[in-house]
This record gives sequence, C-alpha cells and structure tokens, in this order.
Amino acid sequence: LTTFSDEARIALDTLTGRAAGIVSPSLRLGVTGLSRAGKTVFITAFVHNLIHGGRLPMFDAQKSGRLTKAYLEHQPDDTVPRFQYEDHIAALVDERIWPESTRAISELRLTVEFESASAWNRLFSRGKLSFDIVDYPGEWLLDLPLLGKSYAEFSAEALELATLPARADLSAKWRALTEGAEPDQPADEMTARRLFEAFSAYLKACKADHRALSTLPPGRFLMPGDLDGSPALTFAPLKPAGKAKNGSLHAMMERRYEAYKTHVVRPFFREHIARLDRQIVLVDAMQAMNAGAEAVADLERSITEILSCFRQGRGNLLTGLFSHRIDRILIAATKADHIHHESHDRLQAIVRRLADRAIARADFSGAAVDVLAMAAVRATREGTVKQGKETLPVIIGTPLAGETIGGETFNGEAETAVFPGDLPEKPGQLFQAMEQQSPEAPIRFVRFRPPRLERTAEGVTLSLPHIRLDRALQFLIGDHLA
Ligand code: GDP
Repeated sequence: LTTFSDEARIALDTLTGRAAGIVSPSLRLGVTGLSRAGKTVFITAFVHNLIHGGRLPMFDAQKSGRLTKAYLEHQPDDTVPRFQYEDHIAALVDERIWPESTRAISELRLTVEFESASAWNRLFSRGKLSFDIVDYPGEWLLDLPLLGKSYAEFSAEALELATLPARADLSAKWRALTEGAEPDQPADEMTARRLFEAFSAYLKACKADHRALSTLPPGRFLMPGDLDGSPALTFAPLKPAGKAKNGSLHAMMERRYEAYKTHVVRPFFREHIARLDRQIVLVDAMQAMNAGAEAVADLERSITEILSCFRQGRGNLLTGLFSHRIDRILIAATKADHIHHESHDRLQAIVRRLADRAIARADFSGAAVDVLAMAAVRATREGTVKQGKETLPVIIGTPLAGETIGGETFNGEAETAVFPGDLPEKPGQLFQAMEQQSPEAPIRFVRFRPPRLERTAEGVTLSLPHIRLDRALQFLIGDHLA
C-alpha cells in the first residue's frame, strides 16, 4: 500500500513547492492511452493549433478573439525528457508521415496569453497561464494495483490468468519454463533473465493485433522506457512456495519485484500522476471496432482499468486524504476522420456507452468525465460517389503505402475514395451484435497519410486540420481562460 508517509510527502512537496514559488500556477494536463492510441499526434495538433491560431470555433477563448499569444517555454521539470514537438510537427507537416509514437514519459510547457472575459478577472489576473502537458504510456498506469500486492500474490494471480483459455496457448512456453524453475534453487542471473524474457514475450503476445487481450502488469514489461535491461525489470512470477530462502531464486525475484514497486512504480505515481490537474485518455475505438467484438469488449476493460486509477477516496491506493485531485477527465476516441461526419455522433454515443459501463464497473466517483469522438489530425475530406441510383457518402484521402482496398495496393501517393461503412444509429445495436457474436466489423479501416496543409488565397498556410479538437480544448482548459 502507499503509506501514510507517501501521502504526507506528496502534500508537503506541493505545499512547500507553492510557498517557495517552485510550483508555478500552471495547469498540468496528463495525456495517456495505450500504445498507438494517438497521444503523440494529439499533443502535436493541440500545440500547433494554439500556436498558429487554428480554426477552433468551439473553443471560447479563441472564438471570442481573447487569445492573444501562445508559445512554448522551458518546462519546469529538468529530469523529465521534453516532448519533441519540433520533430513531430516536421514529420507531420513537411514529410507527411506520422510521428514517432510515445515510448516513455515526456513533458512540454505551453504558455498562453489571453484577455479574460470578465472585467473582474482582467483587473486581478495577469491573463497568462502555462500548461504542462505530460505524455505517458497508459500501460504504466496499470501498475498501480501492484502496490497493494506481495510477490506471492502477484505470482499466484499471474499464473492463474495465464491458464485461462484465452491466454493458455500464448503463455505455454513461459509456464513450462516456470514449472521447471524451483523457487529454492540458487539465484542465477541467466535463469532470471530467461524467465523474464519468456514472461514478457507472453505479455506482449496478448497485445498483438489479432488477440487484443487486456493489458496485464507489469506495465514496463510492455513499455520499458529507459529501464530496459535493468535488474528491477528482470523478474518474473514463480510457482507458489513458502518463505524465500536466503540466496535462492525466489529471494532474488521477490527482491526485484519489491524494487520495481519502490523505485519504478511508486515514484512514477508520486512524481507525475499525483500532480496532474486534468487528464485526457485517448482510446482507439476505430481500431477496436474494426477488429470486432472481442476487441471492443477489451477496450471497455482497459477504460475501466484506467479510470480506476483516477478513482478518488475509498479503495484507491493513491488518492489519500491530502493528495492532489484531478477534476476533469476526457475520454476521447480519436481518428474519427476514418468515418463520415454522419457517424461522428454515433461513434461518440458508442464510446459514451463504453465509458458509462466502465464508470459503473470501476465504481468511479470524483472527477467530471466527458466523452468525445474526434480526430486530432484530419487526414481525409468528404465527398459522395454515385453507385447506380444511390449516392454514397465517402471519405477521400491518401492511403499509406502498402494499404490494400479491394485487392488494390496503394503507393502512398495516390488519393482514393473509400466508403467506410456506417456505424449503427444506436449504440445498443452494436452491443447487441457483439452479444450475438456477429463477426462482421461495422467499418472498413484504411490508414491514411497525414494531410497536405491548406493555403489561403493570401498564401498563408493554415494549421493542422482536425475534427472536434476545439471541443477537447474547451473541456480540458477552457474554464481556465474564461
Ligand atoms: P501513441 O502511441 O499514443 O503516441 O500514438 P500516436 O499518436 O503515435 O498514433 C499512432 C498512429 O495512429 C499514428 O501513427 C497514426 O497512424 C494514427 N493516428 C493517430 N491520431 C490520428 C488522427 O487523428 N487521425 C488519423 N487519421 N490517424 C491518427
């Protein structure tokens, strides 16, 4: 468990930080989601649209012309890698390739100068606010429950889950290896490494595209960040045994598991998660629906797991009496540019239903949660195609090199129109189809290249196009610029 002293230290750090002026009056915005959910693309588009005055009609401060300036500044945390905005924007805009995805935590400070809408605020505030955007893998959040588990409990659970029908074949190699490892045998680095490698290969196989099983801890086994190969990461569960004997494999594994909790998991939550004010959780609902019923069910599980990390009060290992509170969480299904706008509200309704079920299952209370279907970067435009007497709505874009549609393989240069399919009018229909195990995916999913930026008649290049990014900004930061 996180101890009382942990909680007290977080509170004290915050108080003394504020008093000493170290903690500036900034808003810390967490951006998370499982690997490939769209974190990097979201942050890049967020910053680009604010700096370059993007089209953001639903973002009050921008719409009313009160946003005077937005620019990047040095981040306050010297030990956290910087989010490489310049590289990512160059990839997206100049090369029209998708930027490199999130592999570890990074941070970026964006400062906004604005005129408050209220005369009272204009009198008393400086009209300047910094946002510290913290990008981190959702996989790391899923380690929180480990803080409440001993090595014996972790091992027992891991073994039990590994024998379930959905995972049994994937875990077979690791289970055979564990079966042959005697907890009492002398500690040996090579055995530890072999067991770790087999165990983490099994965890990774669960995440493979066609399986899409929910993510199991330890999260760093999937996304090691800069800890790859370190002893705190070189452990694995062992079969049940009593108390660990001195010098045994069991003692070595137990020590490393505890070190992982103490030196990796706890500091991550204490130094990063506990200081967040707002959080956006990106989910790849398009990919899940494309993969079918099991993947959608899995998406709901992962939203539940992520939300339970932000649950407040009873039962949460992190939030105690004193700790900082996240007051708004946005669950955003990104990549909505893969479907026609008629389906955007439908996608949002489906994600809302998933989130509602996840909120109920996670016994979630506390922060305000909203749901949005959006595309941080809009890679397509819309059109219609005549087919006989029917006029079909299509999306038009440049498929990535190697993508195939109806037997045709694309070279990454040619544009094409795709009829993406319709989402059901009511989310219930999708869930019904899922319960009936209907194998057919409702949409056809093609990956497109990032768009070419538009230029105005005056030769001004516009900022990255998006879908509903302005609504995300309004929910996440709008009230602080009122
Ligand atoms: P991360 O692992 O969460 O950082 O994921 P990325 O932001 O790197 O996104 C993973 C991939 O999803 C990208 O390489 C794109 O192919 C795709 N993607 C992400 N966001 C969008 C979007 O808004 N529109 C489209 N069309 N594709 C997106």
